[in-house]
Order: sequence, then structure tokens, then C-alpha cells
Amino acid sequence: MRIDYHTHHNRCGHAQGTLRDMIEAAIAAGMSQIGLSDHSPLFFKEEDHPTPGMTMAKSEFPNYVAEMIALREEYKGRIDVRLGVESDYIRGWPDAYKEIYAAYPFDYVIGSVHYTDGFHVYSRNRWKQENIDVDETYVQYIRHVQEAAVCGVFDILGHIDAMKGLDVPPTVSLTDLWDETADRIAGADVTVEINTSGLFKPCKAWFPSIDLIERLAGRGVTFTFGSDAHSPGQLLHDWDAVVETLRSVGVRELATFRERRRIMIPLPGKMI
Ligand SMILES: [Zn+2]
Ligand SMILES: [Zn+2]
Repeated sequence: MRIDYHTHHNRCGHAQGTLRDMIEAAIAAGMSQIGLSDHSPLFFKEEDHPTPGMTMAKSEFPNYVAEMIALREEYKGRIDVRLGVESDYIRGWPDAYKEIYAAYPFDYVIGSVHYTDGFHVYSRNRWKQENIDVDETYVQYIRHVQEAAVCGVFDILGHIDAMKGLDVPPTVSLTDLWDETADRIAGADVTVEINTSGLFKPCKAWFPSIDLIERLAGRGVTFTFGSDAHSPGQLLHDWDAVVETLRSVGVRELATFRERRRIMIPLPGKMI
């Protein structure tokens, strides 16, 4: 039972392969489920397609969903295709985004904080600013993650400590703030993904870090797996290590989603 709930394809403008390529790769890897979750359009902007290299146009969104539905039918019996989207969390916009998603038959919506202070979370320019307050930058980012957790729009929180991606660490301990965040996530009963794409970034670590995984697991938070694959070859990246780590912190199930409802499945491997 191997699953991957965070995948991208060429519609976003910076990933390789089609939806079909991703599904075929998942079948070849013997996966039981594949979650398709390309980036949401920038619904909060005026223009139809403000950032072609970042995400699809607003007008392309219905085509994205229609293609997923058609592929799910075509591949029935060979693999379970789950319909998703990786949504931005934009302060002031959750209700509008919620309404947009409600019009489509999604199985799940991932909520990711990509933008704070006008910069993308993986923007090098953020850290090149003169007088940047690194600690305040982290605090702001984590506050956004807390808001995303409780806003009621998302089934899964994406790469929750992605601000560490470019390996500019805070200068103070943020343990208390992360504890508070873990409390809010547990209270909202939203699932957290173990996103292994950080291994390809300067931080060379998963999102979230193992320390944070422990804090979440201790509060009974549920987890799912997401490689954040931007090409079919990245599917399931570091899956075995994630399963082993989750087992080591007492997790025995993984979260899957169908029609916005969570369905827990056993974590593979021997029961301890
Ligand atoms: Zn993301
Ligand atoms: Zn992603």
C-alpha cells in the first residue's frame, strides 16, 4: 500500500510530465493510490494568468479537473486516482477559495503557505534584503501556517516548515511557537503531509523536520505522504524512510482522502 498525495505536472509551468505520465509512473511503481495536486491558480490576482512559470491560468482550472476525472475513470481497476489541488493559503482569501473549490469534486485540498511578505517561500531574494529580520520572518510564516490550519478550507497542510528550505535558520528557538502550532493543528484535526521535496533544497531535510513530526504525533495528528514530485521520477521519494520514521514515533496509519473525507489506512511494514 504505497501512496503519494502531492504531485505536480506540466500545467503549472515548472513541472515535467502530464497527468497521465504521473499515473503511469505510479502504476509502474506498484502504488495503490495516486493523488494529483497541481498548484491552484492565483485566484487572488486580477489577471487570468499572472505567473505562467508558477501555476496554471484561472481559465485552465476547469480543464485540469475535467482531465483528472476522465483519467480516474480510464484507470479504474488499475489504480485509484484521487483528485486534489495544492492550494495557496492567502490571508483574507480563505472563504473565496473555499467557494471556488466547492464547485469541483475534489477528494482533497492541500493548503500550503507559499507567500508571506510579498515573497515566495523559496525566493532567494527574500534573504538578500537588507535589514531582514530572520526570526520575525519565521514567526510571520508560522502564523500563516496556524491560520491555514484552522481556516476550514484544507484537508492537508503542505510542507509546514518550508521556510527553512533555503537553509537560513532562525537565530532563536521557536519551539514554543511550534508547540502552539501543533496544538492548533491537532485542535483543527487537519492532516499534515510528510513532504520529502526538501531533500532537493539547500536544507536537505523533510518538511516537517523529525522534531516537529514527533510533536505532532504526540498530539495525535494524522499524517499522509507527499513527495511534491515535479516529475514522474520523483514519486515516492524517500518513502521507506518516512514509513520507518513514522513507525518510530508510534504512528500506525496514514491518511487518505475521498470526497473530502479522511480514510485511514494501515502504515505498511511489520506491526511492532
Ligand atoms: Zn508547495
Ligand atoms: Zn507542491
